Amino acid sequence: MKVPLLDLKAQYKTIKADLDEALIKTAESQYFILGPEVEKLEKNICEYLKCKHAVGVSSGTDALLIALMAIGIQPGDEVIIPDYSFFATAGVVSRLNAKPVFIDSDIQTYNIDFTKIEKRITPKTKAIIPVHLYGQSAEMDKILEIANKHNLKVIEDGAQAIGVQYKDGNFVGSIGDIGCFSFFPSKNLGCFGDGGIVTTNDDLLYEKLKILRVHGSKPKYYHKFIGGNFRLDAIQAAVLNVKLPHLDNWSEKRRKNAQLYMNLFIENKLSSKPGVIKYSETDKVLLPIAVYSDKNLRNYHIFNQFIIRVKERDILREYLTKNEIGNEIYYPVPFHKQECFMDLLSEFNYNNEEFKVSDLASSETIALPIYPELTEEQIEYVVCNIKDFFN
Ligand SMILES: *Cc1c(COP(=O)(O)O)cnc(C)c1O
Repeated sequence: MKVPLLDLKAQYKTIKADLDEALIKTAESQYFILGPEVEKLEKNICEYLKCKHAVGVSSGTDALLIALMAIGIQPGDEVIIPDYSFFATAGVVSRLNAKPVFIDSDIQTYNIDFTKIEKRITPKTKAIIPVHLYGQSAEMDKILEIANKHNLKVIEDGAQAIGVQYKDGNFVGSIGDIGCFSFFPSKNLGCFGDGGIVTTNDDLLYEKLKILRVHGSKPKYYHKFIGGNFRLDAIQAAVLNVKLPHLDNWSEKRRKNAQLYMNLFIENKLSSKPGVIKYSETDKVLLPIAVYSDKNLRNYHIFNQFIIRVKERDILREYLTKNEIGNEIYYPVPFHKQECFMDLLSEFNYNNEEFKVSDLASSETIALPIYPELTEEQIEYVVCNIKDFFN
C-alpha cells in the first residue's frame, strides 16, 4: 500500500464540479486581480473568523510582511518569534532590517514557550509573532498579557491554523492586532497557487493594510507610504470561496484521523497516552496532546500536521520512506542554527541551553500523513509499519 503525505487530487475530486465552474467563471469575467471575488472572500473570511476586517494578499509570507509594515516595524527593531517554525516567520522580520529574537518552544505543543518571552524584551522590542504551529493555538492569554504590559503589538502567524478556536471560542487570527493566514495548497484551506489573507479588528490598521497592498497608494498614483504588490488573484479567491464552506468538515476529519492514530499507537503499546514527554518502554512514540476534548480548551487542534516524536527518528524516516509511507521533517533546522542568522547569536548572547526544546523538536519529530481523505486502512497500515519498525 502507498500512503502519500498529502493527496490534493483526492480533495479535488470531491468538489470538482464547483471548482471547475468557479475557474471558468473567472476566465469568462477576465477580471484577474483583486475585484469582486476577492472582496467576497474577504467578507466570507470575516464572517467565518468573526473578525471585523480581512485583506486578501499574495501569500502567507506576504501576509506577515505587510502586517509588520502596517504596525510600523523599523530597521533595528526587535521582534520576538518562536525559534522553531517555518522560515517565513523569521525571514519577514529580517527583510525589514529588523531583528528576529528567538524563543524556545513548549515541549507539548511545540508552540512558543511564553515563560521565556519576558527576559528577552528590551527597549527595542516592538512586537511578538506567536505561531499557531501544526494547527494548534499558542497560549494567547499569556502572550497578550505580556504584550500589553510592555506595549508590544501581536501579529499572529495562523498559516497552519485557520479555523482554530482559542479557549474562549475566539478564532486565532482575531485575537492579536493582526492575523496572518496562508492559502498555500498544502495548508488546511489551500488555493491553486500562492495566496494569503490578513485579518484585523482595528479600523486604522485595516486602512493601512489596504493601502500597503497596492504599493502604498491612495488614491492611485499618490503614495503616502512605500508598500508593495501584495495583491491576491481573483482566480485564487474564486477557488477559496468554493472551498471555505468545507473547511470545518475537513478539519473534523483530520481530528478523527489523529484520534485513530492515537488509539492505534496506544492499542499497539507504542504509547501510553497523548502528551507524554519522556521516552520509556511504554512510550516509544510520543504523541501530541489530547485532541478530542472540548472545542474551547487550549488543546483544540486542527492537525495541519500530525507530529510524533521518536528517538530513532532518522532511521524510522528511512524505513517509512522505503515502505512508501509519506512523511516529512518540519523543521530540521531551528532558526538559531540557520546559517543566515549566525550573526544574531553573538549579538543576543544566546547560550547553549536556551533552545533545548526546539533542538529536540527538530531532531526527533516527524510528520505522518493526516489529510482528510485518508482511509482507516491507510492509517492502520502506517501504525503497523511503525510497530514493525520497533520490532
Ligand atoms: C506556510 C507558512 C507560512 C508562509 O506561507 P506561504 O503562503 O507559503 O508564503 C508562514 N508561516 C507558517 C507557520 C507557515 O506554515
